[in-house]
Amino acid sequence: MNYATGEPIRVWDRIEPWPGCSGVVVASPDTGEYTQRFPREKWSYLQRGILMDTTQAGLIHYPEPDTELTLVSRGGPLRPEEWAELRRHQFSRHRSEWRSGSGPSVQIGFLNPHSQICTGHRGKAGTDHLQLVYRVECGLCGHVYGANGSDMHERRCPACQNGAPGLEY
Ligand SMILES: [Zn+2]
Repeated sequence: MNYATGEPIRVWDRIEPWPGCSGVVVASPDTGEYTQRFPREKWSYLQRGILMDTTQAGLIHYPEPDTELTLVSRGGPLRPEEWAELRRHQFSRHRSEWRSGSGPSVQIGFLNPHSQICTGHRGKAGTDHLQLVYRVECGLCGHVYGANGSDMHERRCPACQNGAPGLEY
């Protein structure tokens, strides 16, 4: 599938589906390209087109080319900082059920030194005294899990960094 300019759309292209919305191409069933977070086993049912992860609308599947879709830049997999920025937009949107906590390390979009991204809480109690459970996403492998707010600043991923098992969030 191509942009309106005729240039082919590739996985990891940073794109704008429409003005004011930005995102990244995370899979291309069209060309059989998938990524770690969006693997073939889960997403090949789309059969054609491209799958994008975007600031304003989350995941969007375009089965057909769209003339408004523009290429912003081309690159490799999103860095943890870029995932954190995307999640900050998505999880702090108006009417989002997710909320930031009161410290700097429990803000939606916070990235800790181990590349773990805080995406907020929904009021669920944690396992430590007076703690809430936050939804955390690994900026490296994409694993999603729950963690006490008090652990957020130093949390490691249970899937790829031998971190403690995640909590329900
Ligand atoms: Zn991980």
